[in-house]
Amino acid sequence: VNQADDANETEQARADAVIADLVRMRGVACTACRRVLCGHEALLSRAMGYRDTPHCHACLAARLGSDPEQLRDHLHAHLLRRPCHRQGWEWADREEGVVPPALPACLWPAGATLAQAPAPPAPAGAQDVVAAATFDAGDMGCGDLVLELRLRLSPMAPGQVLELIARDPGAPEDIPAWCGMTGHRLLRASPPRYWIRRKDG
Ligand SMILES: [Zn+2]
Ligand SMILES: [Zn+2]
Repeated sequence: VNQADDANETEQARADAVIADLVRMRGVACTACRRVLCGHEALLSRAMGYRDTPHCHACLAARLGSDPEQLRDHLHAHLLRRPCHRQGWEWADREEGVVPPALPACLWPAGATLAQAPAPPAPAGAQDVVAAATFDAGDMGCGDLVLELRLRLSPMAPGQVLELIARDPGAPEDIPAWCGMTGHRLLRASPPRYWIRRKDG
């Protein structure tokens, strides 16, 4: 077995885990407003670290202090870039009878076009970062990794730095994107190590 096969196998196992989660979350209600989530919204929640407390699109944006349409379009671009998330998105499309390239009507009004997603912000490149805490996530994958990351950053004081060690092959792409969408600041990235400054508020 060569490395490329290994990587493909890992990626497929992750995609299977995403879909298993979406199947489990079928019919789940938003933690905040109790409206039933569609598969796309379940995936958005999972990708933002709310696998444990799923939120509908509007409540997720409110929770993050983001513009709902911007969050939706940025997450969509991010999800389609990563094979495991993309398979989850395609699963939700099939479940809801959406035929790409049409955008799912659950999230986009008819005739809507996608906003151009910005590239995730580059790490600030800080050198002498002092971390208040370290979290070794091992090879934890996408949905679990961001969930644990959220739960660990949340009790920290604004401005404190968490040092993350993440060996997931998707982390170099997922962590900057997640920081960009949640408002936490990625100070430095030297995979598998990342230094994240907790956002204010
Ligand atoms: Zn809601
Ligand atoms: Zn949907």
